[in-house]
Amino acid sequence: MDRLFMQTVQSYCKDPFRYQRRKTREVKVGHVGIGGNNPIRVQSMTTSDTMNTRATVEEALGMVKVGCEIVRITAPTPRDAENLRNIRDELRKRGCNAPLVADIHFLPKAAMAAVEFVEKVRVNPGNYADKKKFAIREYTDSQYHEELERIEEAFTPLVRRCKELGRAMRIGTNHGSLSDRIMNRYGDTPLGMVESALEFVRICEKNDYREIVLSMKASNPKVMIQAYRLLAARMNELSMDYPFHLGVTEAGDGEDGRIKSAVGIGALLEDGIGDTIRVSLTEDSVHEIPVCQELVKPYNLPPDLRRTSVNISFSTLEKRDPFVYSRRKTREVHLGDLAIGGENTICVEIPVCLRERRAVDHIRAITTGADAVAEVIQLRVENEEDCSAAEKLIAEFPGDLFSIDLGVHAKLLDAVPKSGIHKLILEAGMSWSPADLQKLLHLTQEFDFAIQMDIADGHLTQARDFFAAAQRKNFTQIIVGIGAVQSFLPVAAYRMLAAFLDSEQLAFPIHLKDRGNFDSELELLLGASKEFGSLLCDGVGDSIQIGDGTKPREALKLAYNILQATGNRITKTEYVSCPSCGRTLFNLQTVTERIKTKTAHLKGVKIAIMGCIVNGPGEMADADFGYVGGAPGKVNLYVGKECVEYHVPESEADQRLIDLIRKHGKWQDVPEGWVPPAPLKQSAVAASVAS
Ligand code: SF4
Repeated sequence: MDRLFMQTVQSYCKDPFRYQRRKTREVKVGHVGIGGNNPIRVQSMTTSDTMNTRATVEEALGMVKVGCEIVRITAPTPRDAENLRNIRDELRKRGCNAPLVADIHFLPKAAMAAVEFVEKVRVNPGNYADKKKFAIREYTDSQYHEELERIEEAFTPLVRRCKELGRAMRIGTNHGSLSDRIMNRYGDTPLGMVESALEFVRICEKNDYREIVLSMKASNPKVMIQAYRLLAARMNELSMDYPFHLGVTEAGDGEDGRIKSAVGIGALLEDGIGDTIRVSLTEDSVHEIPVCQELVKPYNLPPDLRRTSVNISFSTLEKRDPFVYSRRKTREVHLGDLAIGGENTICVEIPVCLRERRAVDHIRAITTGADAVAEVIQLRVENEEDCSAAEKLIAEFPGDLFSIDLGVHAKLLDAVPKSGIHKLILEAGMSWSPADLQKLLHLTQEFDFAIQMDIADGHLTQARDFFAAAQRKNFTQIIVGIGAVQSFLPVAAYRMLAAFLDSEQLAFPIHLKDRGNFDSELELLLGASKEFGSLLCDGVGDSIQIGDGTKPREALKLAYNILQATGNRITKTEYVSCPSCGRTLFNLQTVTERIKTKTAHLKGVKIAIMGCIVNGPGEMADADFGYVGGAPGKVNLYVGKECVEYHVPESEADQRLIDLIRKHGKWQDVPEGWVPPAPLKQSAVAASVAS
């Protein structure tokens, strides 16, 4: 990493263990303030053709009605930009005062026209006034400087006009559309994204214009998290305090789109970074708002209700590098043939409620299949009857791995089944006496169990004593978790646990579990995605557990979807699809659904579906295949970053895409009995959001 940035490694957030929002200046977008002491704002973008005034106005009104605070509208040409006047007038006439933002790519002329009619202009530093794209060339320092002068000349009139009219501006960097000069000097890295924005910020500051909001979007949550963190660190170093607009681009639709957004945006909100957010879904724009609202809810609470610190204290320092992904180093723990920790994939453990009438069916459902199954089934026992019920249940599934959660019930050690069990879980606390812990160690060695110790506040000494006793007995089959997670800020608590273990040179794998107290399906979906996603993107966590045992099938699906969104386990086809906007050259929702129906059975293939070329090849960088709007009714097909078929009629494009997948050896025939995913509109997630 660049030495300059090494100096700022820990300066991206004030305290990784304590929530504190990054201090920023307030930027006014019409009457709505972003940054400063304002709540984190939620916003979205229309998908209608900007030349269709009626459709755009109706869409904007619908968005505002469900709580959208700022409305963005694309202005691909000066003509569209001019039509923003009609859209604004009609909205104001109908009593809607939501600030409008013009979204500009490529054309300074469109920006200069739009700025007259909207409260904010968004420019993309990667393509503002840059005609050429994706050229590979070396820039000498003087050539680079000449490029910057050219940009300054093209960009300064907009800056001056924004200043004259009191307009705000977003300098919105996209990972997928960095300029050639940035790509050639920095590559498509988080560092390149930050420098791309700074080139434009410097021009603004030269003109004494500071009504700026910055963004660093990417479709890969890890890249996006690192870029925003790096930007925050760089802002601190340069004494700049511009607010940030957060978003994961091309997140897709349905549950996957929500999970990806929650992972990227949520991780940064946990860091105290972010002043306004947009969730980009390939769905109707109104569906984005409830997701945004749910994500910002905990951070917009009044200070006296907001949880800011964890009630667990390990008093330790963090050594994690927040700008580069690396998995925390741990030793392997073995549960039968399953290895957890080390270089092994993140293990999925699913609780099943013993007292459920359908416990047997539940276990069968989550353990059947070739992959994406529960690798460990967890049973929680609270009394001797539970222990007998567990024994019977385990006997029905001789080939599966079980863990038993004893929690605080040390007295059940004698009653707990000894056969078919691979891990015993306990919650450190007064109920576990030193004699109980000795007995536990004895049992584990006799019956070859692993132990998971969940540490709770005030019981660190007990955990330390236990680790020392285990070490004396040469027992290393230990996994560590956090007890009573619901009372903590989980991300901060697990970060602290990882830092504590590392500082004590205890390379135990960490088991992550969701905090369990979610009020709705959406809150669980977004909360678990944010909390696990944030930790997994930082390399913390070797096994995960979701759910309270009553809905194990749903918990299993969510667990694997989170692992896929964080790039940890790829168990199904991955889609990168843009949210669509007035530039879109085909119906994104219909096409995405259609392609999913035909390809969702492919494992480990990544397909990008993009409405136009603006973010095309860049965002598709790690996609295997791309389906991109090339012209009205025409599609360009990509293999990796390379366009291999131009202007394919839309009616032939699906089959030609399948042919390409086949040609590149990634096609599999549809397995017998395979059920294609339900169309989005019928899915539970969309229904809950739309209601
Ligand atoms: S990639 Fe999609 S959302 Fe982005 S500008 Fe093109 S059509 Fe609009």
